[in-house]
Amino acid sequence: MSLRRFCPAILFLFFLLPNSAFGKSNDPEDFVDIKRVDRTIAVDLRYAGSNNVAHQPLYPPGTPALVRANVAQRLVIAQEYLKKKGYGLKIWDAYRPQATQEKLWQVTHNRSYVSDPKEGRGSMHIRGAAVDATLVDAAGRDVPMPTDFDSFTPAALLEYKGRDPIVRENLKLLQKAMAHAGFYGLRTEWWHFTAPDWNQYPPVPDLKFESSSRAQSRDPVARRKFFFGVLRLRSASLRMAGTVV
Ligand SMILES: [Zn+2]
Repeated sequence: MSLRRFCPAILFLFFLLPNSAFGKSNDPEDFVDIKRVDRTIAVDLRYAGSNNVAHQPLYPPGTPALVRANVAQRLVIAQEYLKKKGYGLKIWDAYRPQATQEKLWQVTHNRSYVSDPKEGRGSMHIRGAAVDATLVDAAGRDVPMPTDFDSFTPAALLEYKGRDPIVRENLKLLQKAMAHAGFYGLRTEWWHFTAPDWNQYPPVPDLKFESSSRAQSRDPVARRKFFFGVLRLRSASLRMAGTVV
C-alpha cells in the first residue's frame, strides 16, 4: 500500500476504534480531582459532612471529588454549556469507596435508591463513572431544584412531576447540559448522572486518594483522545440508565 493510501486507512481505523482504545484503564491513577480539571465547577461533597442521609461524615476531611479522567472532561463540556447560560455545576458526590457504599446500604436498605454492595454491577460511583450534581447560578448559589440531595422520594424522579415552572426549567437545563456531554440520567434520582462508557471502568473498592495526585494534571494526550470519543455523543439526548447508585 502506498503511503498516500496508507494514511487515510489508518485515520479511518482510528475513528473505528472503541473507546477502550482511548486510554480507558483499570489503573486507579486514571482518576482526577474535578476541581483541578475545572476550578469553576463547584464541589460540595455531602458525604464529607453531616448533611446527608447518614447524618454523619462518611468521608475523611479534605476528600477530593474524584472521577475518571474522561468523565471529568465530560463535566468540563457540561460546565461550558451551562456557563454560556449563566449557570454552572455543583458536585454533590463523585467517586465513592466500597466502605461508604456499605454504610449507605446499612442506613437506607432501599434497592430503589442505593445499590446493595454485595449484588449486581454495584454502584457507578465506585467505578468513578458517575457524579451526583445540581445546578448553581453564575455566583455559585443554589437554584431551585425538585428536591435536596438523597431525597429518596417520588419527587426526586428524573422526570419532574411538580408544578413549579422555575424548577422545571432549572432541571431541564441541567439535563440538557449533561446530555450534551453524553451522560445518562437515572429514573429515580434527578441528580445522578452516569458516563455512557461506565462499563469500561472496573470498580475500584478502595482508591487511595493520595495516590491519585500524580494523575491530577491535565494530560493533553488524554484530552485529545477524549474529544475524539465525545464527538459521537454530542447530539445524544439524556438517556436513562437502568441501574441504581
Ligand atoms: Zn449517584
